Amino acid sequence: MSNHPVLIAGGGIGGLALALTLNQIGVPCVVFEQVREMKPLGVGINIQPNAVRELFDLGITAADLDGVGLPAREWALVGLNGNDVYSEPRGLEAGYRWPQYAVHRGLFQMLLYRKAVERMGAGAVRMGHRVAGYRNEADGTVTALVEAADGTRSEERGILLIGADGLHSAVRAQMHPGQPPIHWGGAIMWRGTSPGVPIRTGASFVGLGTHRHRVVFYPISAPDPSTGLATINWIAEVTVDGSQGWKSSGWFKPVEIDDFVHYFDGWTWDWLDLPALIRRADAAYENPMIDRDPIPTWRDGRVALIGDAAHPMYPTGSNGASQAIVDGRVLGAALVVHGLTPEALVAYDEKLCGPVGQLVLRNRGAGPFGLLNLVDERCGGTFDDIDAVIPPEERAAFMAGYKTAAGFAIETLNAAPPIIPAGARVVLG
Ligand SMILES: Cc1cc2nc3c(=O)[nH]c(=O)nc-3n(C[C@H](O)[C@H](O)[C@H](O)COP(=O)(O)OP(=O)(O)OC[C@H]3O[C@@H](n4cnc5c(N)ncnc54)[C@H](O)[C@@H]3O)c2cc1C
Repeated sequence: MSNHPVLIAGGGIGGLALALTLNQIGVPCVVFEQVREMKPLGVGINIQPNAVRELFDLGITAADLDGVGLPAREWALVGLNGNDVYSEPRGLEAGYRWPQYAVHRGLFQMLLYRKAVERMGAGAVRMGHRVAGYRNEADGTVTALVEAADGTRSEERGILLIGADGLHSAVRAQMHPGQPPIHWGGAIMWRGTSPGVPIRTGASFVGLGTHRHRVVFYPISAPDPSTGLATINWIAEVTVDGSQGWKSSGWFKPVEIDDFVHYFDGWTWDWLDLPALIRRADAAYENPMIDRDPIPTWRDGRVALIGDAAHPMYPTGSNGASQAIVDGRVLGAALVVHGLTPEALVAYDEKLCGPVGQLVLRNRGAGPFGLLNLVDERCGGTFDDIDAVIPPEERAAFMAGYKTAAGFAIETLNAAPPIIPAGARVVLG
């Protein structure tokens, strides 16, 4: 066994959670992150109980997570006339042993970054370094081709290379040079955060509208005790004809609120004034709802993919970040069993690549929002009695199917042994 570290391309949520995992199981690693400085970018995301369990096992506490978000209590779908389609408790209130968290993506990434630097030292995350490609070597190592922000190029030798480099992954592009372009189904999302009074349980995720025209909103902070206002994350979405592909430049592009708020004129009820909520945001971002077709394998010799590099998916299931965290843990468990070997990457790939590829396609088919499609098909989106449109048993069965596919079915998760047993270490030769 060589004394080369594991190389990680990308210091997003997936790459940093993997670095913390490797540190926990005694494996030296280095993260290469292309941006020069870590900044709290993005808006809200959900961390599902299956991933919160892994964060707790990594020594990230509820108090840490309370600093970047709040525990979610409810998930609800509401029709255009304001009537409930479906609602269910979430997290601890649903009976999970671990909470679900709604967090600010950027603050959460910064939390992982701080933990990585505290535990491994600043040198463990090399900012301003982009991994442009790799070479599997005959001597049982792998070389990462690295470009620094100042233009210098270097070759870094590792025992394994993990591509955690997101949607536009360079590692994946080399691994699958013939992969089709990014897939866009025609949905455009505008995202932002605004101060607002939380509704329903105070920590409810609400999806409102139809499957082609909707808004999702949920608080990502506890309310300020003096004002009662929390940070409300919102995603306003319309679906247009996507047959020509995504033409606009950029992803997460800043846009003027006036450019899109008109799609939601009249979306006002006594419990929500959506245009007013959107207008209170300091900034709004446009991004297409995009993903990539599943690929047959996430590994090539001593190289593997995790997170969005492996399986970029529509955010409809709120599980992209959660799956990125779980990937790193499953990979860590395979390293504990097989050592820092290609066999470990095979075991990891065999366990996740197929099922998570199916989840990507399921989210493309609307994920849990599929209930809104059904309402639309059966009554055009407006109803008085939801039971007459979709009986309660059918709604419950639909949601149970989704949770099983996404790995957060309550009884299964609660009974599952830890992915990485406490105290497990990789035996380094
Ligand atoms: C700036 C940003 C904002 C986001 N905001 C949201 C949001 O508001 N809501 C939401 O649902 N999802 C958001 N996402 C996506 C979400 O974070 C991911 O879907 C999920 O967390 C999976 O994380 P990941 O680590 O696999 O990928 P990412 O979070 O995309 O992280 C990938 C990391 O790799 C770095 N990187 C990329 N290419 C290279 C390379 N070749 N070499 C080295 N480093 C590289 C990137 O700079 C990034 O830090 C955002 C992603 C980014 C990068």
